[in-house]
Amino acid sequence: MQNNDQGRGKKVLIIHTGGTIGMKKTENGYTPVAGYLAGELKNIPDLNRYDFPAWDLFEMSPLLDSSNMSVDEWNEIGRVIYEKYEDYSGFVILHGTDTMSYTASALSFMLEGLDKPVILTGSQIPLSELRSDGRDNLITSIMIASEGVAREVCLYFSSRLLRGNRSMKMSADGLVAFDTPSYPHLAEAGITVKYNHSAILARREGGVKYHPFAKVPIGVLKVFPGIQFGLFEDIMTEKLSGIVLETFGAGNIPMGNGDLLPIIKKAFSAGAVITVCSQCPSGTVSLGAYETSSQLKSAGAVSGRDMTTEAAVAKLYHLFSLGVPKEDIKRLMEENIAGELAE
Ligand code: ASP
Repeated sequence: MQNNDQGRGKKVLIIHTGGTIGMKKTENGYTPVAGYLAGELKNIPDLNRYDFPAWDLFEMSPLLDSSNMSVDEWNEIGRVIYEKYEDYSGFVILHGTDTMSYTASALSFMLEGLDKPVILTGSQIPLSELRSDGRDNLITSIMIASEGVAREVCLYFSSRLLRGNRSMKMSADGLVAFDTPSYPHLAEAGITVKYNHSAILARREGGVKYHPFAKVPIGVLKVFPGIQFGLFEDIMTEKLSGIVLETFGAGNIPMGNGDLLPIIKKAFSAGAVITVCSQCPSGTVSLGAYETSSQLKSAGAVSGRDMTTEAAVAKLYHLFSLGVPKEDIKRLMEENIAGELAE
């Protein structure tokens, strides 16, 4: 474990999981290489200044491109934070951008009662390259993690501190890659970090609990004009515990020849919880506002309201892993657990 422990009180744990920020250029393109990031951090003098927070570096193995992340890695990150919770004032998770919002959402449910900052960050350009956006993302994330104002799972990128389970990756190549279209930013980092105190979760007492996820069978189906629902009948079976339907606007689906509703009813009576999210990045699902959504409701689907698909997937994993009865899962999907939806 690398560190810059200079005897100062507060300390941040950097958990390196992989992703572009720490990748090395090879003949086959950028790839995560074990031990490589430690050398890159030595090249950033600011990380060792006397007025910079103390930190330790913990590297996960293997390092991954975040497209390869699964429930196992989410559980591993959660476990490391849980086991080292008392030793640090905050945590910074270096992570690939592709699935960062999924991991942030997962951790927000997995770490119940979290009362310290957990900041996910990464970069579009590796630290080893000129113009890397990783340097500021890393430095500011560590400072925010050490300050302890936003005591929840956050995502920091391009001067914005965002609620993790509201975040979405918005750009594949822009440096302003993340946003929370249906929630205000938790802070803006300009000359100083300006916190939006009213948007930050209230302090939680009683200690943190760790609820690892099981490999719950979950499916996501995005509707589109002309979708032939019959083709999905063999997929939407009792084998799926949770289904996220990405619908149009406020929760609408093509009524077509009416072949979706019997499939949904069948999946529902077989035990699946069907959550309706919107393809629109902002706004809220309102089942029953239009005829095209009211039938979803009567078929047993629940509203994901203003939840992102990323958060809905993570929440289904969480609730099924806890063994919550289906009727309660249906209710809880529409209620706020970790700041993922508006009350
Ligand atoms: N494919 C990379 C990843 O998600 C992209 C990135 O880090 O920006 O790990």
